[in-house]
Amino acid sequence: MAKSVAKPAETNGEDINKAANVIGTSEIVENPASKEHERDEIDISIEKKLIALYTLQQNDSKIDRIKIVRGELPLEVEDLEDDVAGLETRIDNYIQEIELLEKQVSDKQQSIKESQTLIKRYEEQQNNVRNNREYDALTKEVEFQSLEIQLSEKRIREFSAQLTMRKEEVESAQNELNDRRNDLEAKRSELTDIVAETELEEKELINKSDQQQKLIEERLLVAYKRIRKNARNGLAVVPVERDACGGCFSYIPPQRQLDIKLHKKIIVCEFCGRILVDKELADSIQ
Ligand SMILES: [Zn+2]
Repeated sequence: MAKSVAKPAETNGEDINKAANVIGTSEIVENPASKEHERDEIDISIEKKLIALYTLQQNDSKIDRIKIVRGELPLEVEDLEDDVAGLETRIDNYIQEIELLEKQVSDKQQSIKESQTLIKRYEEQQNNVRNNREYDALTKEVEFQSLEIQLSEKRIREFSAQLTMRKEEVESAQNELNDRRNDLEAKRSELTDIVAETELEEKELINKSDQQQKLIEERLLVAYKRIRKNARNGLAVVPVERDACGGCFSYIPPQRQLDIKLHKKIIVCEFCGRILVDKELADSIQ
């Protein structure tokens, strides 16, 4: 009889303390007045509780997984939408710059033509001058227009270099944009599929979870929910695997493992406070 007496879990921190208190089994197991057939009933009942808890855990973990999968996708879609919008703006700006540069090039080409026309006219006028002063004045005009042409040609070369650069940038931005648009389309349809695919499954799992919760006594359920909330991976009930807690991987001594297997009381991990079940019970539920 002594071996079935609950040894309280070590109290590492508030959570374990609370968990141990809530799950405390003294009123069930340590009742010295228990008769054998009553004890059998109690054993079954603890086993049933463990099964109910682990079933609920499995179910809730499935809901968690759905949320995790879907949880990342909307963010990825949002990031891609931002990328696409950013690239579209960049390309628009480049195109405006290119149009401006092209306009500037054609303006300069036009002014070269005008200078050439003027030079031609001045040279014709030089054939009909009345004196040297008029001839020299026309020569100066021709020189001035020649310099204007050189300047325009220099500007055209500069604009053309900028045009080449911008056109290359537009092309690479366009390629990047195409890639991002493809990614976005793929992620969007993935998200739509997952939402469509998991919506029903999630609803069913939530319904199932509600049903399963009704089978578990209030205090135990409160403990379960609290442990689950505080656990990083949402695990409140874990199997013993390779002599260790399936939640925090701390070593569990053989005697404690034996106690867990007996299903005579609810045992929590001394280190992380999670409720422990034996591998056999866990495997029977998978
Ligand atoms: Zn643990």
